[in-house]
Amino acid sequence: MGMWNILDVSLNRGEKKQLYYSPNGLETHKVPITLICGAKEGKTLGLIAGTHSGEYPAIPATSQFAKNINPQEVTGQIVIIHCLNSRGFWEKSMDAVPDDNMNLNSSFPGNKKGTPGEKIIDFVATKIFPELDFLLDMHSGSKVEKLVPCLFYCSIAEDAVVEATKKAALALNYKYLIIGTSNRSLFGYAALSGVPNLLVERGCFGECKQSDIQAYIKDIIQLMKHLGMISGECEDTITGEFYTNTTYLSSDVNGVWFPKVEAGQQIKKGEILGCVEDIFGNPIKEFYAEYDSVVFYLYCDLPIDKGTFLVAYGSKN
Ligand SMILES: [Zn+2]
Repeated sequence: MGMWNILDVSLNRGEKKQLYYSPNGLETHKVPITLICGAKEGKTLGLIAGTHSGEYPAIPATSQFAKNINPQEVTGQIVIIHCLNSRGFWEKSMDAVPDDNMNLNSSFPGNKKGTPGEKIIDFVATKIFPELDFLLDMHSGSKVEKLVPCLFYCSIAEDAVVEATKKAALALNYKYLIIGTSNRSLFGYAALSGVPNLLVERGCFGECKQSDIQAYIKDIIQLMKHLGMISGECEDTITGEFYTNTTYLSSDVNGVWFPKVEAGQQIKKGEILGCVEDIFGNPIKEFYAEYDSVVFYLYCDLPIDKGTFLVAYGSKN
C-alpha cells in the first residue's frame, strides 16, 4: 500500500509523525502538526485548532486525540494542526496574529509573499485544503464571549459540497446548525475550494473545561465514524436543526454594555437584548430582537465602541 506524502514528509501506512511547520518560511511561526497515516488508504481529514489563538478547548483536544489514536485502526489520513495561530497563542493574543493583527478566519486566500498572517492563510489554502476530503475547524467563544455549542456550515459552495457538509453536521452532537456565507472565512474558502467542512464552537470566556475538551474528542471520533475512517456505529446525537436566518448585531454607540440575554436563550420579537449606558449609569441605547429567535453567542465585556459586535441570534427560517 502506498506511502502518504504531505508537507515534504513521507509516511508509511500505520505511521504517525509530529513536526513544526513554518508557513511559507515564516521562522517566527512554528505551527505544531500531527500527521496520521492510517493502516488503509482512504479519505483525508483535516483538524484545525487555534485559528483564533485564545479559543482553547480544541487545542488540548486535538493533542489528546493525536496521542491516543492508533493509526493501525484508521482508514485514511489525518492532518492535525494543533494551533494555527501558534505565535498568537504563546503571546496570549485573544484571536489575531500578533505581527499584523490579522484574523486568520477572515482574510482568505492570503498571500504567500504578504504579511505573516497572509502567509499563514496562504499555507492553509494552498498546502492543506488541496489534501483534504473533509475539514473540521474548531473554535470557541472568545475571552469576552459567551456561547452555546453550535456549528457553522457554508451554503455558497457547489451542491455536492454543501450536501456532504450538511450530512456531517447532522451526524455531530450539535443542536444549532447555523448557515454561513462568508467567502473569505476559513470555512467559506475551504467550501469554495471543494472541501466540505464545518466550523464548530464549544466553550467560551477563555476557559478550557475538561467537558469541552472531551466533547471535542467525541466530535472527532463521531466525524471519523461518519466518514468511514474508523469502525463503529455513529452514536445517537441530539437532533440538529438548521438556522438559515441570522443576525449579527453590532453597536452604533460608545459606552458600557449590559447584556440582558444568555447564550441559548429563546427570545421573542421586541424582547430586550441589552443596553448601553454612559459611565455614570445614564441610559444611552437599548437593543431589541427583530424576530422570534435563539441567542447563539454574545459579547460580555463592559466597554464597547461603535462597531463592537454585541449579539448573534437567529431563527430556522
Ligand atoms: Zn474563533
